[in-house]
Amino acid sequence: MTAPDFAPAHNDASQVLRRVFGYDDFREGQQEIIEHVVDGGDALVLMPTGGGKSLCYQIPALVRKGTGVVISPLIALMQDQVDALRALGVRAGFLNSTLDFDTQRVVEAEFRAGEMDLLYLAPERLRLESAQRLLDAADVSLFAIDEAHCVSQWGHDFRPDYLALSALHERWPDVPRIALTATATPATHAEIATRLRLDDARHFVASFDRPNIQYRIAPKNEPKRQLLDLLRTEHPGDAGIVYCLSRSSVEKIAAFLVDNGITALPYHAGLDAGVRAANQSRFLREEGVVIVATIAFGMGIDKPDVRFVAHLDLPKSVEGYYQETGRAGRDGLPSTAWLAYGLQDVVQLRKLIDTSEGDDAHRRLQGRHLDSMLALCETVECRRVQLLAYFGQEGKPCGNCDTCLTPPESWDGTVAAQKVLSAVYRLDRERRQRFGAGHVIDILTGKKTPKVIQFDHDALSVFGVGEDLSAGEWRGVVRQLLARGLLAVQPEHGTLALTEESAAVLRREREVPMRREPERRAPKTKPAKAAAAAAVAELSEEAAATFEKLRGWRSATAKEQGVPPYVVFHDKTLREIATVLPATLGELGSISGVGENKLAKYGQQILDTLTG
Ligand code: ADP
Ligand code: ZN
Repeated sequence: MTAPDFAPAHNDASQVLRRVFGYDDFREGQQEIIEHVVDGGDALVLMPTGGGKSLCYQIPALVRKGTGVVISPLIALMQDQVDALRALGVRAGFLNSTLDFDTQRVVEAEFRAGEMDLLYLAPERLRLESAQRLLDAADVSLFAIDEAHCVSQWGHDFRPDYLALSALHERWPDVPRIALTATATPATHAEIATRLRLDDARHFVASFDRPNIQYRIAPKNEPKRQLLDLLRTEHPGDAGIVYCLSRSSVEKIAAFLVDNGITALPYHAGLDAGVRAANQSRFLREEGVVIVATIAFGMGIDKPDVRFVAHLDLPKSVEGYYQETGRAGRDGLPSTAWLAYGLQDVVQLRKLIDTSEGDDAHRRLQGRHLDSMLALCETVECRRVQLLAYFGQEGKPCGNCDTCLTPPESWDGTVAAQKVLSAVYRLDRERRQRFGAGHVIDILTGKKTPKVIQFDHDALSVFGVGEDLSAGEWRGVVRQLLARGLLAVQPEHGTLALTEESAAVLRREREVPMRREPERRAPKTKPAKAAAAAAVAELSEEAAATFEKLRGWRSATAKEQGVPPYVVFHDKTLREIATVLPATLGELGSISGVGENKLAKYGQQILDTLTG
C-alpha cells in the first residue's frame, strides 16, 4: 500500500473537494468512502444515480500517489467524462477502441510518466495483455469499477467482460478497488461482492431516495395526448427522456412530438450507429432536447439537467424503472418521473415472459420482477415508500408522489371481480375460440358486437350484468385482477384464464379491494416545480433574466470548446450566481461548483457577463 506523499491525507480530501470541484461539503456517505479508499481499503458502494459516486473515486485518485484506473463500459461517454475532468484541471485520459494510434501513444506515454490522475478503460481493453503490461509500468492508485452491476448475470445490463475483473486483485493485490453501482437489490448487491471477489471490502449503502423526483403513475388512456399535456404544461423547453418498448413506437412518438413543435429525436438499436451517436450528442450538447428511446439509451448519461423521464410502456422490473427514472434530476432540482400504464401492458408483458427463451427458472424470475412492478403501479400507498422497500430500505410517506398528492380512493371490487371471473369461466368452456379482455368487457357491458352475436354471447347469463361501470372502469378491474394474479393470460393467444386463486373470489371467500380509476378527473397533482419549490428557491424575475444571460454565455462557450454546456457550469451553479451576483473573483469562487481552475478560466468572463 502506498502512503500518501503528504499528510494528513483526510484534510487533503476536503481541500480537493473545495479547490478542484468547488464544493463546500461532502454529500451523505462520500467522506467515509473517500477516507476508506484513501487509506487503501476496498469498497463496494451502492448509491442512487445522482448521489455523487464519481467523487468517491476521483478524490482518492487525486489524493493517492499514482493514476486512478476507472473501468467503465460506456465507451461513447468517456470523451465527455474526460472533458469534464479536464475542465476542472484534472489530468485525465481514456483508452478505448475509438482512439487513433497516435493519440493512444500520447495517453500511454503520459500514464508511464506518471503524469495522469485518472485513466478510463473499457473492460474488454483491460483483458488485453498489452494493457495489463501498461498498467504494470507505472503506479496505479486505485481501480474504480463503475456500473458494477454489469457483472450480474441476472441483472439487466450483464457484460461478460466484467467477469474477468475478478482477476484484478490477483495481479495487483496492493491496489485498492472500489466498485460502484446504482442498482441495489439485495441479490445484485451480493452477486457483485462474490463475482468481483470483494471479500474484504467495506460495503457502503446510501439511501436510495431521490427526494427531488416526483413519481407519478397514470392510467393509460390516450398516451400521446397525455404525454403532450405533460410536456406542454409542466416541462416546456425542458430536456427529458421518453421511454418506449419497441423501435417502431419510438419512431412514431418522436415524429408525433416533432409534429407538435417539440425538439424530439429517436434513439434505438435499429438506427444507424452514426445517427444514434449524433442524436445522443445533440441531447447532451443542446438545451431542451427530448430523446425518445428504447431502454438501449441512458446508462451512464450524466447530463445533470434532465427534467423528466416519461415511460409510455411498462418497464419489466422495478430495478429497470428505478434506473431509468433515476436519470432525471441528477442536479438535485425538481424533476418528474411519469409512467402511463394500462391493461394492454400487463397482457403484453405476461405474454412476452411466457413465450421467452430460457429455462423455467428464468421465466419465473421475470414473472416475479413483473409482479413487483405491477404492485408498485397498483399501490394505494406512497410510491416512494414502496420503491424504497423494494431496495430493502424504509421511508415515510413523501408528499411528492401522485398517491401522496392525490390519495386514490379504494372501493370494494369483489362483486365486479366475480362478474369478470365468471364471464371468463363461461368463455373458457368454449374451447373452439379464444377471447381477449375486450370481448369480455363487451359482454359485461352488454354490447352487441358482431363477435358477440356470432357466438351467441348475448345469451350468456353474464351478458349486460356490468352496465354499472364504464368500459374504461372495467379495463381497470381486469388490469387489477391480472396484476394480482387473480386472472392470467394464456401465452399463445393472449386469452384471459382463471388461476388457482380465482376460485376463492368466485366462492366469495376473498374480498377484492380496488383502486378507483382517476380516469377523467383533472389531476390534482401539483406540477413538479411547485411541489419541490422548498428545495430550490424560485428565481426572482431579475435573477431569471440574469440566469438566461449566463446560459447564453455558457452555450457560446461550450460550443466553442466542443463540450456539453454542463461541462462548463451546471444550471445549479448559474442559478446561484444569478441570485448572489458576485462582484469579485473572490466572491465568485465561493459559489458551489466554481473550483480554482474554472475560476481562473471563466471568472472574468462571468463577471463581465453580469455587468455587461
Ligand atoms: P452518480 O455518478 O452517483 O450518478 P455524480 O457523481 O454524477 O452522481 O454526481 C451527481 C451530481 O452531483 C454531479 O453533478 C456532481 O457534480 C454533484 N455532486 C457530487 N458531489 C457533490 C458535493 N459534495 N457537493 C455538491 N455537488 C456534488
Ligand atoms: Zn409519496
